[in-house]
Amino acid sequence: MRYEGSIYRPPSEAHSLLIQGTVGCSWNQCVYCSMYRDKTFRVRDLDEVLADIDAAADTYGSRVSKVFVCDGDALILPMTHWEAILVRLRESFGALKRVSCYAMASNVLGKSPEELARLQQLGLSLLYLGPESGDEPTMRRIAKAPLTALEGDGRHGTPIFDAHVEAAAKAKAAGLALSAIFLLGAGGIERSEEHARGSARLATAMDPDFLAALTLTVVPGTPLADREAADRFTLPDIGGLLSELRVFVAEARPTDALFRTNHASNYLPLGGRLPRDGAAMAAAIDDALDGKIGLRPEWARGL
Ligand code: SF4
Repeated sequence: MRYEGSIYRPPSEAHSLLIQGTVGCSWNQCVYCSMYRDKTFRVRDLDEVLADIDAAADTYGSRVSKVFVCDGDALILPMTHWEAILVRLRESFGALKRVSCYAMASNVLGKSPEELARLQQLGLSLLYLGPESGDEPTMRRIAKAPLTALEGDGRHGTPIFDAHVEAAAKAKAAGLALSAIFLLGAGGIERSEEHARGSARLATAMDPDFLAALTLTVVPGTPLADREAADRFTLPDIGGLLSELRVFVAEARPTDALFRTNHASNYLPLGGRLPRDGAAMAAAIDDALDGKIGLRPEWARGL
């Protein structure tokens, strides 16, 4: 398979075929994110993408049941590309059950309800959206979305929060499943509690099928690292990060979402359904805070 630059995918796509539809992220401005800083965003040539699918079909054939379309916000692909990719995937892999990709709220809002429904009919089944926080000041500070564009579209007050709620509703109306990702520590110590509470509020309002929490690592070379060096951002300590997680599991009230903290960045791997298992997970976090449960050691953590 041909891949350009580093490739990222969610933990739950560990066994998926990765097809690169775009290179990089069309936004590429979230202050903590180092994933695609070395790439200039572009839509990959469609013939190349289709050739990659053909090559994968020759190699893996019936073993492929899940495909993740990379890179950072692949939903932005034009409909002509998506339609051709989804049709070719369906023709190539008889056992195909799921096609997914990362998406920004603006990507979802940029497609019409009919377009999203068409993608779902052709086999796109799951979108990973990463609001990272539900606290509007935190979302602004981490540059989570193109604010000027959202305000230009008439969203005021809490435009980034609202855009994620709107995007989630639109995706679900089209029949797409949704995984929402939040980032412990994104508010720094300054907005730690607001960040945790706001994230739980947004998780409730987005009402996704899957929820995940990752833990922020300040990566050298990012704008957030510059802020940290200038004493304008301080990551909560491990106790503070676990406390954010505790608030989140206790307060998030989606209808019924599978929640995981199995990403390598986390200190405490948890899994359960929210809200059903919120109290049990909060108790496990209390045990971890009391030192009764071991945490993932620093050397074993990853981005
Ligand atoms: S939208 Fe995702 S990939 Fe793009 S800069 Fe933000 S975190 Fe990174």
